[in-house]
Amino acid sequence: MAGTDDGMIWMTRTNELMWQALRLYLPPGTRLNSVRRPPQEQFDIIVKLARGNGYHFATPPHLNHESSWRGALSFIRQKGFKVAAPGRSMHQRGLAYDLVGPDLDKIETAVRKAVSDGRIKLVPGSRSAILQEPMNRCVHVEMEAGILDFEPFGVG
Ligand SMILES: [Zn+2]
Repeated sequence: MAGTDDGMIWMTRTNELMWQALRLYLPPGTRLNSVRRPPQEQFDIIVKLARGNGYHFATPPHLNHESSWRGALSFIRQKGFKVAAPGRSMHQRGLAYDLVGPDLDKIETAVRKAVSDGRIKLVPGSRSAILQEPMNRCVHVEMEAGILDFEPFGVG
């Protein structure tokens, strides 16, 4: 998913550590675009994408009235955007990371290597654990754990 335009990323210390674990694998120039998104932000993204692509809201959309935005979500999904409904995104659970960079294939390959090396653990059972989103120009990754190495010192 596209992130906010203001360059702010909302994340916890845990998110930061998991990003550090994954980062070792990523090609140079890869940036973290988005982690946690509250429902209102997810809703705002849907409204902005829908309007930006020519969707007309019959009634003013409101987060708490699903009927007011359901059509807009279908509309942008038909346009090829992979967008979760407000309340359903792994971003709201703080488990999803959107990675951006010059070569999404290279980023995806690097993420899969980190998984096969056991450095990060994907959210089990998710169909969107690793998802390349060409329309949003990012690789979406859902991680529940990561391993960080610490230089051993003072041994003996
Ligand atoms: Zn995402």
